[in-house]
Amino acid sequence: MRFHHASVATLIVLAALLSMRSSTEAQGQAHAVILITLDGARTEELFGGLDTDVFRSTLGEKQVLEEQPAYKRFWADTAEARRAKLMPFFWRTLMRDHGSIAGNRGAGSSVTLTNTHRFSYPGYSEILLGEAHDDTIKSNDPIRNPYASVLEELRSRLSLTSAQVGVFASWDVFSAIVEHTQGALTVNAGYTPFDSPLPAVRALSAMQVETPTPWNSVRHDVYTFRFAMDHLSRARPRVMYLALGETDDWAHDGRYDRVLETYARTDEYLRELWTWLQADPEYRGRTHILITTDHGRGRTTKDWRNHGAKIEGAQDVWIAMISPAMQKRGEWRTHPPLQTSQIAATLAGWMGVDWKMLRPAAGAAIRGD
Ligand SMILES: [Zn+2]
Repeated sequence: MRFHHASVATLIVLAALLSMRSSTEAQGQAHAVILITLDGARTEELFGGLDTDVFRSTLGEKQVLEEQPAYKRFWADTAEARRAKLMPFFWRTLMRDHGSIAGNRGAGSSVTLTNTHRFSYPGYSEILLGEAHDDTIKSNDPIRNPYASVLEELRSRLSLTSAQVGVFASWDVFSAIVEHTQGALTVNAGYTPFDSPLPAVRALSAMQVETPTPWNSVRHDVYTFRFAMDHLSRARPRVMYLALGETDDWAHDGRYDRVLETYARTDEYLRELWTWLQADPEYRGRTHILITTDHGRGRTTKDWRNHGAKIEGAQDVWIAMISPAMQKRGEWRTHPPLQTSQIAATLAGWMGVDWKMLRPAAGAAIRGD
């Protein structure tokens, strides 16, 4: 009799577990979540494409705007046509059929930072913690994050291995930003070797140091993307973060043509990633993607290269979400303002974790229905 009772109890527990599992699946909670950031990507280019005033301001006296290859490639008459030339897959497929984007101030949509520093480490930390810590997180130095990130919490709450939470970043300081506990996640940031059984990927790992950028701490995004795709297909992570950097660095250098080309290359990366996810039965329809930036930049020809506490416009950012749990498509219009501090709770919520329970001061998850 005791055995009988025990097995009935076991069955009841099993049934309860199974129904919990199916109800979380039914609510659209995901198999996987992917965070993507484009460093310092202004709302001006994202929503309006090529900015003629800025482009012209970067040219020498004898250079003609209309003759520049990047102008010929990316110019069009309307903001909608220009941005689609810059990021055709993002606008004509992702945002039209699968997701939505907030942050176009011209459409009555506002997304801002809550940190007041308006540069990278505080921006990424706000994204990953759901709260600004202006007093303690106030430099871009590679100082280990004093707080556990949403990536680390997802790993422990979902009982994932470190290989199942992968971070691939062009900027080396990400090793310090994304983890409070060193080694909790799989992190490959800056000019770091990446190992793979594939000879072609190992060749890329060797090549990254032979194709230096003008910046000591940032490698080319192509390596970051290739290593991330290799990790995705072999380790099959549940949580992945792809942090691209060139949109910011070329802007600091005043190379507007390269800024534009970077957006277009990034769009190709998004297309490849999306195509891969759609071809995989485990990820297709069960993967949530959030794309955003760590800060904006100045709005004028005088300050578009820069960002920081005193630069007007650097507080304006944007958030794109492609999620089976969200019905909204295209651009958000006239809604209560959103903030970067809401991203951590949004990512965690998609994976069934209540971030506000863990961090009561964090911003609330974004609802897209
Ligand atoms: Zn910057």
